[in-house]
Amino acid sequence: MNIGVLALQGDVREHLAALAESDVLARPIRRPEELADVEALVIPGGESTTISKLAVSFGLLDPIRKRIADGMPVYGSCAGMIMLATTVLDGRPDQESFQGIEMTVRRNAFGRQVDSFEGDVAIDDIAGGDFHAVFIRAPWVEEVGDDVRVLGRVSDGQAAGRIVAVRQGNLLATAFHPELTGDLRVHRYFVEMVRQAA
Ligand code: GLN
Repeated sequence: MNIGVLALQGDVREHLAALAESDVLARPIRRPEELADVEALVIPGGESTTISKLAVSFGLLDPIRKRIADGMPVYGSCAGMIMLATTVLDGRPDQESFQGIEMTVRRNAFGRQVDSFEGDVAIDDIAGGDFHAVFIRAPWVEEVGDDVRVLGRVSDGQAAGRIVAVRQGNLLATAFHPELTGDLRVHRYFVEMVRQAA
């Protein structure tokens, strides 16, 4: 299995490690030629405005959009979720996305006071119950299209009910960072998606 991790900015190494622990040898992707060699892609957490800018300057914006339109499986965490959204609220005016998941996400949605927090996400499909999730200046999903399946919502607290995990076809996105907690269930779920797409 041939999975790439978009390596322009963000927690690339953590995703490579989580995939390795899920028995997949993944590789960092920085150039269009490298993208052509993989069957699936992970977009890490980081800063979506920076990833957007670098994707344009590295000539990856259109190739990734095209691969997504052609059905390549992609998983995005946090900034990666933002990069997969068709509509981004509170983004920079020139911020681009790879499109793909018909959803409206709001950047830094959880509020200024709580830049980061940990909480449980009810995420039955993937975890068979609650998933302990780490959020870092995370987005949430405000609206989804008809073909988007909501996989997870925040279980309790002020943000209870907010959508933080979705899937549309071969595209998966979480507002939180499973690559940081050592819980491999989301990565394993994605690897299984890639296997089924092949
Ligand atoms: N706030 C960041 C953004 O807008 C996302 C943060 C993250 O990926 N941890 O891209």
